[in-house]
Amino acid sequence: MEISSVLQGGYQHPLSRSWQHNKTLTKSMLMYPIFITDDPEANVVIQALPGQRRWGVNKLEEFIGPLVKKGLKSVILFGVPLKCVKDPIGTPADDQQGPVILAIKKLKQLFPSLYIACDVCLCEYTSHGHCGVLNEDGTINTLPSVERLADVALAYAKAGADCVAPSDMMDGRILAIKRKLVDSGYGNRCTLMSYSAKFASSLYGPFREAAGSAPAFGNRKCYQLPPGGKGLALRAIRRDVNEGADIIMVKPGMPYLDIIAEAARIAPDHPLAVYQVSGEYAMIVAGARAGVYDLKTMAFESTQSFLRAGCTLILSYFTPEFLDWLNEEG
Ligand SMILES: [Zn+2]
Repeated sequence: MEISSVLQGGYQHPLSRSWQHNKTLTKSMLMYPIFITDDPEANVVIQALPGQRRWGVNKLEEFIGPLVKKGLKSVILFGVPLKCVKDPIGTPADDQQGPVILAIKKLKQLFPSLYIACDVCLCEYTSHGHCGVLNEDGTINTLPSVERLADVALAYAKAGADCVAPSDMMDGRILAIKRKLVDSGYGNRCTLMSYSAKFASSLYGPFREAAGSAPAFGNRKCYQLPPGGKGLALRAIRRDVNEGADIIMVKPGMPYLDIIAEAARIAPDHPLAVYQVSGEYAMIVAGARAGVYDLKTMAFESTQSFLRAGCTLILSYFTPEFLDWLNEEG
């Protein structure tokens, strides 16, 4: 045996094993997705997303307070309007009395150092359930869509959001939002995180139950990327970098690790986020319940794969568990 082929001596101890990681998960890398609904007292279990709930604004202190004490650094808010009147242009998205804007203000007041990102999309607020404004024939009308999304993003920035994160996949929305933020004096006060490579995935099912956001007709395949579309994903990432995105995101995570690695290669100077989506989370929990693996070990393995591929930021429903687990790990 060649002496240079003996590798096991280099990772025989738990500490020397940890030195093999290019990056180690920290609490700062985790962003927790939370669902805010328009009943201020809501605390409602989401069946499809084990352990996750829809929260009302008045419950945020008891929900988020203990997590901040454990080291929670950032959240991303998803509005779940159940009582509002939806219309074709998603008017309730930037209603000053809507759940997202009220939640931003409440969280900023309660936890001034918590970093608050907001998902920006129209689908939860449009009568047709699509992510943009439609032509009469049901196709996407791009220009009014991106103008509307930019208005919504600005409203969240004005309410105090540290980051706006458009998930709609409309062409040109990064440029439109960045321009709107800059022209309104928020260019240096709000991060723009783009869902750049968002694939039309089977893994969004539990989220749709959580957010009540299934489209009324058709599907989102005309704007979300085809799962095999690697070249398209790379073009979308390059475009969003050129249009002024501050952070690039790939979504979902585990089936798209090659895209994450490519994103890290073609946009090496940007923070790179991954969204470990509802179906990935539910799948990992279900596998653990079925005895396939240990939950904590598998959850860490999933995040290790994201870090190895090049991520610097992970949106995960496991965030509360990781805050405990990372304390145990020391
Ligand atoms: Zn949408």
